[in-house]
Amino acid sequence: QVRVRFAPSPTGGLHLGGVRTALFNYLFAKQHQGKFILRVEDTDQTRFVPGAEEYIQECLAWCGLIPDESPSNEGKFGPYRQSERKPSYRKFAEDLVAKGIAYYAFDTAEELDQQRQLHPNFRYSHENRLDLRNSLSLSEEETAKLLAEGTPHTIRIKMPENEVVSFEDMIRGRVSFETKLVDDKVLLKADGMPTYHLAVVVDDHAMEISHIFRGEEWLPSAPVHILLWEYLGWKDEMPEWAHLPLILKPDGNGKLSKRDGDRLGFPVYAMNWQDPKTGDLTKGFRELGFLPDAFVNMLALLGWNDGTDQEIFTMDELIAKFSVDRISKSGAKFDFEKAKWYNQEWIKHTPNNELLPQVNAVLEEHHLASDKFDDNFTNSILDLVKERLIYVEDYWEQASFFYVKPEKYDVDAVKPKWNADKTAFFQSIAQLFQKQENWTAEVLEPLFKEQIAASGMKMGELMMPYRIMLVGGKFGPDVFKITELLGKEEVLERIQLALP
Ligand code: GLU
Repeated sequence: QVRVRFAPSPTGGLHLGGVRTALFNYLFAKQHQGKFILRVEDTDQTRFVPGAEEYIQECLAWCGLIPDESPSNEGKFGPYRQSERKPSYRKFAEDLVAKGIAYYAFDTAEELDQQRQLHPNFRYSHENRLDLRNSLSLSEEETAKLLAEGTPHTIRIKMPENEVVSFEDMIRGRVSFETKLVDDKVLLKADGMPTYHLAVVVDDHAMEISHIFRGEEWLPSAPVHILLWEYLGWKDEMPEWAHLPLILKPDGNGKLSKRDGDRLGFPVYAMNWQDPKTGDLTKGFRELGFLPDAFVNMLALLGWNDGTDQEIFTMDELIAKFSVDRISKSGAKFDFEKAKWYNQEWIKHTPNNELLPQVNAVLEEHHLASDKFDDNFTNSILDLVKERLIYVEDYWEQASFFYVKPEKYDVDAVKPKWNADKTAFFQSIAQLFQKQENWTAEVLEPLFKEQIAASGMKMGELMMPYRIMLVGGKFGPDVFKITELLGKEEVLERIQLALP
């Protein structure tokens, strides 16, 4: 059975890259009728940020990526927070020490700092491990004594000196690493907590994970993980690996960071993230007015495509069409203009009734009297203005004139050439409209145009002023559709108000 996991550390808000990792895991799981698991990797307590886990769960829910197993919906492999699994890790580290594959290290933080000062490129490795204070450099008696005295210690992996670790990455093909370049990573910390390296392998094994999709930034850790799978005796059960391409800045120059978003004025978080320590608020896609479908669609295409020109995909289509073969090796450029395009397309494709609650929320924000919340009315307006919306919020800019009379008229567009003939024309239009029983665009438009023809004036001289009378400015959908929707009484009132 396919079992994949999204394993974030609760150290902050979810960045685009994190959500995309979650999405690709989810798509792969659902495509194979497998399970999508959320595991919270909170073993680094110095980096723990309160609220981050809740944020992650809420964010996944907003995107529609509901985990089959998670801290709030435990399956049989719980707990799903690594801090709560603390007692389970030590025995594996000790087991590796017994096998001579890992060792106790007694160096204090001060001693290590000193080393770093002496050697700017200090790495704890095969090159210097015998000069440091650990069970490889000390005698068995000394080690036993230090342990018996309860001396604080870590357990480190003893990286082989000259081996090549290689594995088959589902995206990159064969990847190889020379172990001499990898340091002796800590597996168990002095406080008894595992490090990420130990915990991730122990838990992927315990939770029977079959495939690992994670960001490219974890590729350098892969040799340590591969060796641990082997050393712990689980080689045959090792999952398949896929390291997802980086998400790059719009100019393709380097990895996209939170600061790029701040600097270039676009969000990099799925939802608003307020750092509880600094109080800093970073904008999110959700709050900016992205539909979750559009956000997910945009993310899926960051490093993947189906091999055709198709760009708009529903979640179900993504599940059906996703394929690891079509994930690119090279970084994916994030383009905010393109992200907006996805949202615009999604608004166009979303049925009005699904948009209505959000549109009503926008109206409410603008303190519109509740008797104006007529869903049928709003529905008809949506048909006219939907194409122009990038965000649902734009509805107000595009359609508020349907609900409230223009406060100001863009008179400059009309007045300079205004004259008594025009006033007379609109008075006669008003009289004509007054008599109309059948108030539809189809009837009113020819009527209006016949009057223009009869007046001897030009179309443009009268059409634009008419639009401005109804809308307040030179924008909006077809003016006779507007006329129809506003209704007779309102149209007549607006004409009178606008006339000099
Ligand atoms: N806890 C790691 C993270 O924060 C997980 C990396 C992995 O998937 O192995 O992304």
